[in-house]
Parts: sequence; C-alpha cells; structure tokens
Amino acid sequence: NREWHLVTRPVGWPKPEDFALVEAEVPTPGDGQVLVRNLYVSVDPYMRGRMSAAKSYAAPYELGKVMQGGAVGEVVASNAEGFAAGDHVLHFFGWREYAALDAKNAVKVDPDAAPLSTYLGVLGMTGLTAYAGLLRTASFKEGDSVFVSGAAGAVGSQVGQIARLKGASRVIGSAGSDEKVKLLLDEYGFDAAFNYKNGPVSEQLRAAAPDGVDVYFDNVGGDHLEAAIGSLNLNGRIAICGAISVYNNTEPAPGPKNLARLIQTRGRIEGFLVGDHYDLQPQFVEEVGPWVRSGELKYRETVVEGIENNLEAFLGVLRGDNTGKMIVKL
Ligand code: NDP
Repeated sequence: NREWHLVTRPVGWPKPEDFALVEAEVPTPGDGQVLVRNLYVSVDPYMRGRMSAAKSYAAPYELGKVMQGGAVGEVVASNAEGFAAGDHVLHFFGWREYAALDAKNAVKVDPDAAPLSTYLGVLGMTGLTAYAGLLRTASFKEGDSVFVSGAAGAVGSQVGQIARLKGASRVIGSAGSDEKVKLLLDEYGFDAAFNYKNGPVSEQLRAAAPDGVDVYFDNVGGDHLEAAIGSLNLNGRIAICGAISVYNNTEPAPGPKNLARLIQTRGRIEGFLVGDHYDLQPQFVEEVGPWVRSGELKYRETVVEGIENNLEAFLGVLRGDNTGKMIVKL
C-alpha cells in the first residue's frame, strides 16, 4: 500500500522534494468501516491551497501525513451495514492505494450507469461546480453571452457546453494552446475561442465577443478577470470559481484596475464554493446525465496511470497538461 505524504509546504511551484511516496501497511477496517482499493484518484487545482498553511475553506494538509482528495474505489472488505465487497464507492481518501474509512463517508456509485472515472469529473465534483456556478452564482439565462476561461479543462468545458445547451446567444472560451482552442470550436460547439498565450486577453476577448459578455465564469483570475470586466455588458455577472493563474504566486496578485466599470454596468462579481451547492446534485445529474449519455455534452479525460505518478499528474494540472478532467488510474 503506497500513499503520498506532504513533507514540506511548497513555496511557489511545488517541487518533488516537498512530497514523499511512502510504503504503509494496508489498513484494517474498524467497526462501521469499509476497506477500499482505490481505482481512480482525482487531482485538482484546489489541492495547491491545502498544501499551504494559510487558513482557507479546507484544512491544510498535515505534514508527514497522507494527503486527501476525491477517489473512486472498490470495497474489498466491509464491517459496515449496507456495504459489501465488490461495491464501488466515491469517497475522499485519495492519494493512496488502500483506504479504511467510515462507511458514512462513502457514497455508492454504479459502474454500469457510467464509467467510474466520470464520478470524479463530468458527473461529479467538477461537473457540479460548472452547473452551480453558471446557473446559480452567475444566474445564467437563455440569450446570455457567456465567456469562460480554462475552457478546455474539467469545469470550463462543461460550463461552455451547458451554456450552449441552455440557449446562450454566444459562448466564448479561452485556453492555453491552439489545439485546445480547436477542440472548443470543433467538438464542444463554442462560437468563438482564443489561445490566451497568443496575445493580450482583453484584445482577444473584444474580438471574440464584439457585443460584450453577460456572464463571465472565471477559472483563472488575473488578466482574464480584468479583460472580462472590460467586456461586461449592462447587468453582467461574474462568477469567481478559481484563480489558477495565481495559485503559485508568492506575492498577492494585483486586483483588476477597472472595478469602477461595475458601476457603469451595474455588474456583479461573486465567488462560490461547490461544497455549498450539493442540494443541486440531484437536479444536476437529472439534467446533465442524459446530455452526457446522448453525447450532446462531450467530455475528455486525461488519464495518468499509477499511484507513483499522482504528483506528476497534479503538477500537470497546474501546467495545463490536461484536456478535461485529470484522473489517475491505479
Ligand atoms: P482544469 O481541468 O481546468 O485544469 C486546470 C487548467 O488551468 C489547466 O489545464 C490549464 O489549462 C489552466 N491554467 C493553468 N495555469 C494557467 C494560467 N496561468 N492561466 C490560465 N490558465 C491556466 O481544472 P478544474 O476544472 O478542476 O478547475 C478549474 C478551476 O476551477 C480552478 O481554478 C479550480 O481551482 C476551480 N475550482 C473551483 C471550485 C469551487 O468550488 N469554487 C471547485 C472546483 C474547481 P490551459 O492549457 O488552458 O492553460
């Protein structure tokens, strides 16, 4: 049983020396617990925050202890009512091969209803983030023009497609390579897309959205946020989902210089956390599940194999190696 520990708190970009892959005993499940062999482990940008000691919505990872994160696995032994060997469960004890956990912290998932990895992505946490942030936080309505950054990633690709399927007048995305831009246009049905590395975001956004944007779904922060404020229409809404462009900064990033434009536009900026929106989960699965099954909503996964590559996969998400949800398959 191998598990990942945080050894030192990274400063700036995390380095391999900040982590250790440690051999540990396979744990014995106690009363009310299940022993799970992990099959798919999630790596997510928010984990960068948990590597720091700074107070946030999730507790910092403890030094010298196994890290945590979403995972799907197979129950191999059960001391809990209602769970049996062979069941598949979604839980929060990733970054390791085996986990013993209280059954109340495990949710059964059906491998026949959808591929197991999708419970971490398109039908899981990142999917719900897209759904809740767009529909609830940004109050999306039919006819809105929507701009999303990180648009080829797990959350962003779903935001753009949900907006399209729910009648957006125009869907615009930005991503970090020409190949990703092509995917947005050719496969996900975006109306316009640009590579933010090819020129200033504000100029590229103005060209892609000549009539402005009603909704901006922000995964990136920095220049993207400033550009979106600059292109915001009257009564525009900005949902702050993430700010991946600043997660490895050692100094606080400067804020947008053009906030006063929100007066002119009566614009609204609001941050949200998916954890506050799990009441939408049944509605999300009911609405988005059929689109995924029919292929109207497409998704990609970037799958890295082996627990020994968990850290590289995580770093890959920060670098943009992934298209769609980054998953580690054990
Ligand atoms: P993604 O699958 O989108 O992967 C992250 C992507 O960010 C990379 O693929 C990369 O794509 C892009 N990126 C990296 N550095 C930069 C940069 N400097 N500027 C612009 N883009 C960059 O991850 P997720 O879909 O899981 O998460 C997307 C965002 O949503 C993150 O900010 C995350 O923290 C946030 N989030 C927030 C939640 C909440 O509850 N508020 C819940 C889940 C996620 P590229 O090649 O295009 O650069």
